[in-house]
Amino acid sequence: MNNFFNPKSIAVIGASRSPGKVGYDILRNIIQYGYEGSVYPVNPGATEILGKKSYPSLLDIPGQIDLAVVVVPSKNVIEVIEQCGVRKINAAIVISAGFKESGLEGARLENEMVRKAREAGVRFIGPNCLGVIDTHSKLNASFAAGMPAKGGIGFFSQSGALCLAVLDRALPDEIGFSKFISMGNKSDITDTDIMLALAEDDNTRVILGYIEGLTDGRRFMEVASEVSKKKPLIILKSGITSSGAKAASSHTGALAGREAAFSSAFKQSGVIRAHTLNELFNYALAFSNQPLPRGPNVAIITNSGGPGILAADACDKSDLQLIPLYKDVVDELRSFLPPVASFYNPIDIMGDSGADRYEKAINTVLKDERINAVLVLLTPTAVVDVEATATAIASLSRLTDRPVLTSFMGKQSVEAAARLLMKNNVPNYSYPEEAVSSLNAMYRYRVWISRPEKTYPKPVGSKEEAAHIFAKAREESRQRLSDSEVHDVLHAYGFSQPKGLFARTSEEAVAAAKGIGYPVVMKIVSPQIVHKSDMGGVRVNLQGKKDVENAFFDITTRVRNLIPAAHIYGVMIQEMIYGGKEVIVGITKDPQFGHMIMFGLGGIYVEVLKDISFRITPLSQEDAHEMMRETKTFPLLRGVRGEAEADIEAIERSLLTLSQMAADFPEILEADINPLLVRKRGEGVVAVDARFTIGGE
Ligand code: ADP
Ligand code: MG
Repeated sequence: MNNFFNPKSIAVIGASRSPGKVGYDILRNIIQYGYEGSVYPVNPGATEILGKKSYPSLLDIPGQIDLAVVVVPSKNVIEVIEQCGVRKINAAIVISAGFKESGLEGARLENEMVRKAREAGVRFIGPNCLGVIDTHSKLNASFAAGMPAKGGIGFFSQSGALCLAVLDRALPDEIGFSKFISMGNKSDITDTDIMLALAEDDNTRVILGYIEGLTDGRRFMEVASEVSKKKPLIILKSGITSSGAKAASSHTGALAGREAAFSSAFKQSGVIRAHTLNELFNYALAFSNQPLPRGPNVAIITNSGGPGILAADACDKSDLQLIPLYKDVVDELRSFLPPVASFYNPIDIMGDSGADRYEKAINTVLKDERINAVLVLLTPTAVVDVEATATAIASLSRLTDRPVLTSFMGKQSVEAAARLLMKNNVPNYSYPEEAVSSLNAMYRYRVWISRPEKTYPKPVGSKEEAAHIFAKAREESRQRLSDSEVHDVLHAYGFSQPKGLFARTSEEAVAAAKGIGYPVVMKIVSPQIVHKSDMGGVRVNLQGKKDVENAFFDITTRVRNLIPAAHIYGVMIQEMIYGGKEVIVGITKDPQFGHMIMFGLGGIYVEVLKDISFRITPLSQEDAHEMMRETKTFPLLRGVRGEAEADIEAIERSLLTLSQMAADFPEILEADINPLLVRKRGEGVVAVDARFTIGGE
């Protein structure tokens, strides 16, 4: 990738003499921002552009060329790529538009270009992009208006417009970037190539990305996991909708959307997810300027109550903690703060505070070594010297190895101070909540890099025992496994299931119930019926012969009335399981990331509550542990109001078993066990109802 960022010579193919044309702006940017290598404009109609000798074609340029910047019309790009091959130029930036983004013909051209580039040994960024900026080699091979300051943020973006917006926002505050890469259509060089390059780049401390779509989700996760261990990787992903709910034949399929896949992928690979552009920027400021906090404890110092409370509320919703300070630290604060001040965290040093009081308060708070980060809030009261306070904070921040973030609130009266803080690597935010969420992102990243390697349990279950079932369904081109096949697959993987007997008539049902032992459950068995209770096809807690006879009559008549075409095989008589809590566990398949495992609480209410969590396979022990705790209803499993705790470890094992099953049978499209009845701790789980959909592969 070196030739993209630090080339010794550049050719601009399609350079123009007309200001305002992209081919002009790029050449001008390269020259204007101090690029030190050789620059060769290529334009058959010109002899000289912007003081540089122009050449009719790439082939006419004497000497070595490291990087080709291509600005010619799309129909001519392939020819230029071929010439790059002839000239042994292995790096190109294709600015030209008119490819995939413009329709079928453009997509065809783009595919052809990729093929030609491979043949010619040329790697390229784009097409349809804004270009590349490297502040450290003073290269601005883009048509952006302006050059960012030198700094530690490496930014890549699928959208060129977004590059422009970020640049424009960065310029006035002189926020420093190492590299700026507009990716365009990403038809050759992709996000993962750039992430790897930025991870290796000594000038880049923080990697920032804007992504709309990915072609290879698994590869992304692999690279992101590697990169995020070295540097913070902050990504804004747009275009997430929950329209992934297609084959709604199972609960899992209906509940999983693209959003679930991406957020799991990010979580599992240590990506710091920004949800808005503002957040992306805020996080970048914190990560690129301040050290990571070593723990969650934060001290808030403020000159007014309201903002202190807002910040405290925000901390409360985050992983950060506001701990009370040591007594001797509080005593010291008392010695110089007015008696009406608040000495507990948040520490309110009052509206009449000047720079010296801020300085003393921060210094004192830092004496409590349990405090991992300091958040300084300032409301521009009439008495406070805003700039002097900023100066004081800036020098204190330089002396401590703990992160200091500020929120000088307002705009006009704090503008100069905010700039001063930023210049001194103290990120300043307009609102306290933004400072808190940025600090929280830093803390979470700290936790990520210091966590132990994930552990993957040994394979469980008997793949061999289940294989013939899947094979048979495939041979018969069936998408769904039958109830008895589902039973056998679950059995092969060690799931407990209620005792059950199939019955075709009322008499058989009574005999089956007697065999199993009362009370029993009766369920309709019909290949046309997916959700049995929706059709009135399930009766629980049948206590005797009469109950069974009535239930048989009711169920079969009701189903016959509701779906006259349904083929009713008979009913299943099942042992009734008492006292379990209902959870749902399942497998689903995302087009980009492949199999995901789902967990949720609530049995038949799961589709209403939507309180579910996902992880992409293979599931680690930690994934299984965390995904349960991510749901809001998890505390119900712990037991509320004196209830016994449910067997959480058994659920964890079930999740891991499903992950193994998904690995063993790639053809599983969807599977869910709903409900998985969870008994008391140590008593295990029972798979009461399940379905499997297979296809593809
Ligand atoms: P479906 O999901 O097709 O409607 P289920 O077999 O899941 O059918 O049954 C619906 C509900 O009935 C379950 O969520 C559970 O609450 C209850 N149920 C079913 N079978 C049993 C059983 N063997 N023991 C206890 N409760 C059961
Ligand atoms: Mg069910």
